[in-house]
Amino acid sequence: MRRPHIRGRRLAIAVAVTTAATLTAGAAGSAFAGPAASPAASPSASTPAPQKAVEAARAAAYAHASATGVGKKDTLKVTDTLIDPDGRQHVRFVRTHRGLPVLGGDLVIHLTAKSAYESVTRAYRHQVDVPDAHPKLSAGQAKTKAAAVAKGRAGEPELVVDARANRTTLAYRVQVADSRTSEAGGARTLVLDAASGAVLSNTAADDSFLSPAVQAKLRARGERLSPATGLGSTAPAAPSATEKAAGSAGFPSAATGFGASLFVGKVPLSTTRTAQKSFTLKDPTRGNTETRDAGDKEAKKVTDGKPFTSTTNRWGNGTTNDRTTAAVDAQYGVTSTLDFYKKTFGRKGIKNDGRGAHALVHFGQKVGNAYWNPDCGCMLYGDGDGKTFTKPLVVLDVTGHELTHGVVEATANLQPTRTDEEGNAFGEPGALNESLADIFGSAVEFSANNPKNPPNYLLGEKLGLDQKFLRRLDKPSLDKLESAVDYWSKASYDTEVHGGSGVSSHAYYLLAEGSGKKTIGGVAYDSATYKGSKVTGIGRNKATAIFYRALTRYMVSTTDFHDARTATLHAAKDLYGAGSTAYKTVDKAWAAVNVTAANAPSAQH
Ligand SMILES: [Zn+2]
Repeated sequence: MRRPHIRGRRLAIAVAVTTAATLTAGAAGSAFAGPAASPAASPSASTPAPQKAVEAARAAAYAHASATGVGKKDTLKVTDTLIDPDGRQHVRFVRTHRGLPVLGGDLVIHLTAKSAYESVTRAYRHQVDVPDAHPKLSAGQAKTKAAAVAKGRAGEPELVVDARANRTTLAYRVQVADSRTSEAGGARTLVLDAASGAVLSNTAADDSFLSPAVQAKLRARGERLSPATGLGSTAPAAPSATEKAAGSAGFPSAATGFGASLFVGKVPLSTTRTAQKSFTLKDPTRGNTETRDAGDKEAKKVTDGKPFTSTTNRWGNGTTNDRTTAAVDAQYGVTSTLDFYKKTFGRKGIKNDGRGAHALVHFGQKVGNAYWNPDCGCMLYGDGDGKTFTKPLVVLDVTGHELTHGVVEATANLQPTRTDEEGNAFGEPGALNESLADIFGSAVEFSANNPKNPPNYLLGEKLGLDQKFLRRLDKPSLDKLESAVDYWSKASYDTEVHGGSGVSSHAYYLLAEGSGKKTIGGVAYDSATYKGSKVTGIGRNKATAIFYRALTRYMVSTTDFHDARTATLHAAKDLYGAGSTAYKTVDKAWAAVNVTAANAPSAQH
């Protein structure tokens, strides 16, 4: 399966101030006490609270340079602003150095309710400094090298400062389209040393649900997945007279229809009425979240797809012989995920900007995978390759998992430390990213609570795999496909990201549900601990709140498992207090997966 040309992910792009959903009127009206040190930080009383927070945080970053590492040659660009109900502010920045984007230069400045500097969370601890911005290698040489390495069409190289891995290197960032280096890779982003031409990183542009390694394993086993679909659902009943009469208020207007899905039974769908007897599968109540038909092409953007329309506001028939059926699952999955984030955390959309998300179904030909593409802000769903996967990959937890990658990208932007030629990614921050996608993907199921898709701590349990699930949070090592691990070890530093994800997924499960045998919703779990310690769970809601707060406030692009422990402790302290059972259980849950203060890596980053 070839992947299309999709513009590579940019590491640091967003400049808009995102208003936290947790911003309250009280916070907005609170007195502002900006630092007097910087003339830039003297906003008027009419400046909106998020903008005040950004200006105060920016000034604090320079004023506390010894802690933040932000130097005079650095410029900060805000990517996210979160204001807590108690007024505390968390402003996330990426930076440029001598005008060049800094990879690994991200940081979060934490301010008190009075906008005084409190602390910083930063990706790397070393000083970003390049003596000058004159590369030895020409842009043309970098382009040639990148095209040769990724075997594709290289775009124009961009000069950047690579501050990752505790060093500062002048480098070129090059997007390579149509990369032939991997079956699932598609576009690649290469970073080359601007002096030596050495490849500093080589990453895939979008997130695929199934790694190249697991696809190869399934093929090698000759496993053919034929998941149960339909679930007794038939084509939805015809619209009632009241429904027919509705919508006379003018078009377009919001309407409620029904869909017969592949995997989740009959579901209500919020749609757009464009004429008396004309509807599109677009949800005006959720930022115009829309699913379109990619027409078996490798569409690059949502507008390349064809809208799904109906004269009855009845969608799909529960089988793949109606092209609309997969769209029902996709639209249900995307809107259920958006609903989870909104009702649980007040998060308005993937980027917390109030916008909807989009999906393209029937993506490409014989594509046995699903992807989140950050540039189009959309999900891309293949229909299956016909060999291993025989059905569209539109199940709910796949969508929850993939859209969470979008949330992670808009917040901590956790990055793998290494990617191999086949597109498999490695390293703890990347594994933490996969783990968070599984944690919140599972939480989306609990939130949707659809009896046709009973919630659980398993991921991909509806894909039809022989092992009955793809991954699971209670005892990750039961997975034999990606060889997920239960406990941290030094090998975790360079473990494949899906396999490595078990460490923090397991910690989350223990925090929520505790150790030992437990049956929840008919699924039997038995979560063991490192050295046999006993953990009593604090409940899923608190555990999920702690992980979300940690992700959005205290994680950055380089956060590893030990940093994640610290981040979740910080979050638990904020939410429940330092002496709380929740706080103590976070500590116990991490110890139970062998992540402790005592075995933290000595290497600073
Ligand atoms: Zn993933």
